[in-house]
Parts: sequence; structure tokens; C-alpha cells
Amino acid sequence: MNSFLCVVALMMCAGFHGDPPTPHAIVRTVITPDAVRANVAELSSDEMGGRFFRSPFAEKAAKWIEAKFDSIGLTHGATKESYRQAIDTNVESGPNLIATLPGSGAGFIVVSAHYDHLRPKRSGEDVIHNGADDNASGIAGMLAVAQAMKALAAQGAGPSCTIVFIAFNGEEAGLLGSRAFVKAPTVPLHEIRGVFNMDMISRGPPREICIDGGAVGEPVTAAIKNANKEIKLKMRLDEHPDWLDRSDQGPFLKKLVPAVLFSVEDHEDYHKVSDEVAKIDASLAAEVSQLVAIAVVEMSKTPFVARTP
Ligand SMILES: [Zn+2]
Repeated sequence: MNSFLCVVALMMCAGFHGDPPTPHAIVRTVITPDAVRANVAELSSDEMGGRFFRSPFAEKAAKWIEAKFDSIGLTHGATKESYRQAIDTNVESGPNLIATLPGSGAGFIVVSAHYDHLRPKRSGEDVIHNGADDNASGIAGMLAVAQAMKALAAQGAGPSCTIVFIAFNGEEAGLLGSRAFVKAPTVPLHEIRGVFNMDMISRGPPREICIDGGAVGEPVTAAIKNANKEIKLKMRLDEHPDWLDRSDQGPFLKKLVPAVLFSVEDHEDYHKVSDEVAKIDASLAAEVSQLVAIAVVEMSKTPFVARTP
């Protein structure tokens, strides 16, 4: 069943009891382990060749993400006509992909993940770095959050400010996509309320996720703690000061934009050809995405005054 039919079914059930579905119920109905796993499977398939920076495979992944943005019904976020933001002047560099869900309130909230991974191994039986956890899981999470936002909006419970969805390229090559974004941001950095960056959200102990944003990320962490009161994941908060510049939240934090990383600990398949979809915990990825969706909506409804630029 598609997610909109699910929500309609949910409303009909709720209707018999007289109450509209809560945002939590809508988010849980739209963001399912099966939906997340299906996207991870496609993006981490051998056909995607490891999606490595400056390769036709990264371009193939970029086209796949654009089609997903279209089918969810998001708006072009790089220019009026395009999701694509160039990372540098090299024509072979794949782009960042930026989509928005426009809202009328003050400020912006960013939900992001990188889509690039690693070039093939030189030899061996299996040479393709599938990058299922790193970071097809984060992209699947970002798409699930976007889908949930659309379903919430259709019920009049959507976010109050514009949400910006960014699929970064060039993360594995040195955070090149996120560095390019903060150099040429599509929305003013001082008007970004928070950045929710997901990088590896589908391995490790059940229902457990690490969240790192340090002092600068505190407003985002506060929103997440609040949202987790009902979702009740085991959150390991700010245990890794060395992770703050390890993924795409880093360039934002350096510009004092509140940002956090959602990630699991490194595991036996980290940066190995065995990081494949069969090994992921799709329930964990779905639960982390549900937490992000609820935190984003709640944060969008709190007052916001832009920081001084
Ligand atoms: Zn990664």
C-alpha cells in the first residue's frame, strides 16, 4: 500500500473513534522498515557500482535520487528548475541534490545525508563497495522523512517552516559537498534552525543511535530529546567529540549553525565490500527516521529569531 492510502486508512480507523491521527501515528504509518529497506536495496545494488565521487555511478545515483524527490512531490531547491548544485567547476564532479518542502514560518530546517561511497577494490571475487549502511541508509532515511512531511502536510499537521532536503556528494572525498554548500548556501546560514544529518543509521544494537552535535548542536539535540519522549530510542548523546567533523554536519558546525550527526559505531563491514543490504537493521533506520521527522516538525513550530549573520 502506498503511504497516502495508509494514512487514509488510518484516518478512517481513527474516524470511528472520533480523533484525527496524531503526528506520531502518521509518521509511524509512513516510515516503515520495509519502505526503508526497499530504498537501501536499490541504492546499494551492484548496478550502482559504489556511487563513488566523480564517476558515472555517482551520476546514476543522482538521477535515482532526483526521481525519488519528484515522486514524493518535493520542490526544486538548488535553482527554480533544478535539484542540482555543482560542487566545483570539474564537469565530472557529481552534484549535491537539494529539494525543499516550502513552509511559511521563519527559518529553515535541513535534513541531509551523503549518497556517495567508495570506488571498487582492485581485485577479489566481490569488488563493489555497496555502502548499504554507509550511506544508502541515511539517504533512505532522508527520503522517508520527506515522505512523512508530505503526509503530515496533507493532514494539516506539516512543518511550519521550509524544510530543505540535501543529498551531499563527495563526503568520502573529504566533505566536499557540504563544504561547497556552506560556501554557496541556497538559504542564509544564519536562518537555518538546525541540521539533521544521517550517516550510517542501520547497524549495531537494536534501537540504539549515537547523536553528536556538541555545544553548537545543542538546540537540535534539545528538539530530539523532546521528540524521543514517545519514540524512546536509546540515545547516546555527545559521546564522540571526534565525530563532529567526521561527516557533513562538520562544515555547518564550523559556521556555528546548530547541526547534529545521527550515526552508529563503526562495524565489521565499515568501508568493506560486505556493507550490503542483507546486513542492515531496517527497523533501526526506520525508528531513527521517525525520530528525525517528529523532531523536525516540533522544532518548526517553536519560535525562531535568525542569528546575526
Ligand atoms: Zn558515511
